Amino acid sequence: MTDKIYDLIIIGGGPGGLTAAIYALRAKLDVLLIEKTGIGGQIALSDVVENYPGTAPMSGVELMAKFEEQAKAFGLEPRYGEVGSVKDNGGYRVVDTADGELRARAVIIASGAKPRRLGVPGETEYTGRGVSYCATCDGFFFRNKDVVVVGGGDTAVKEALFLAKIVNKVSLVHRRDSLRAEKIIQEKALNDPKIDFVWDSVVTGIYGDKTVSGVTVRNVKTDASRELAVAGAFVFVGILPNSDFIDCDKDEAGFIRTDDRLRTSIPGVFAVGDVRTTVLRQVATAVGDGATAAYVAGEFIESL
Ligand code: NAP
Repeated sequence: MTDKIYDLIIIGGGPGGLTAAIYALRAKLDVLLIEKTGIGGQIALSDVVENYPGTAPMSGVELMAKFEEQAKAFGLEPRYGEVGSVKDNGGYRVVDTADGELRARAVIIASGAKPRRLGVPGETEYTGRGVSYCATCDGFFFRNKDVVVVGGGDTAVKEALFLAKIVNKVSLVHRRDSLRAEKIIQEKALNDPKIDFVWDSVVTGIYGDKTVSGVTVRNVKTDASRELAVAGAFVFVGILPNSDFIDCDKDEAGFIRTDDRLRTSIPGVFAVGDVRTTVLRQVATAVGDGATAAYVAGEFIESL
């Protein structure tokens, strides 16, 4: 551990973390942002973002490149690495990484979330060989083939619409008879001739040989099972928080609880965006969180 104490360490380089960085750097704080994989977060996997105000529809990668460029213009130098723990040490916070311990007066957790697995036979075995969690990454491999999409939320419906432009047919399997997704994208999907809806149904198994050749689908109302011959299974059944590295107050699903000033149960540690308990998980809400947390963290640092 070096003697250096940063003002603020931000964990995660998605929309929330990058916005916190922009606000903190403009407030002349000494900021370090640590990112595990690549700047951008989950939104970088979206083929088009059309609900972030003030920008023309563009890909998640393009939008996040703009966030990154803006943060770098204010002096951000992201560091890559994985955080093992965040602890309170009274006067400062200790962030444990593979390269050693780092210290900061305040920490903002912006580590986001990851796709939840279905947990059915064949899912793990065929991941990367027909089972995917990202249509924009893998859709191209299924050109003119039949695929299944599992889930009824924003992600499932948006990804089904994206896949419908590439594949022969999308069967969207949803466990209820109405979708959770935003109305505007529901309408698009319900009117897309290449998307078939398999209502009140769950996927109970994924099978194949070297790659996926089909899934078993069970109707939860009749209990009848049938097989769908598909080359790919795209799973979008919600998200799990990237919050294992921090021991603080969380909800039943592991999302970090904060107050309205985005404070966690650990003094000097704040949480923003998808990783926290919140009603809406969007770029716009993560951005608002990032700005608020940077401001409140500034106040906290000032008070020390
Ligand atoms: P989500 O909103 O939690 O939806 C998950 C979907 O999967 C639900 O329809 C759920 O069914 C279904 N599901 C959950 N567990 C299942 C299981 N074990 N078997 C079968 N189905 C299961 O998750 P999400 O779509 O990934 O979205 C996550 C967050 O990101 C949301 O806040 C969403 O609004 C946001 N987001 C927004 C956009 C956008 O463009 N605005 C795009 C992507 C994501 P039930 O409906 O029956 O619960």
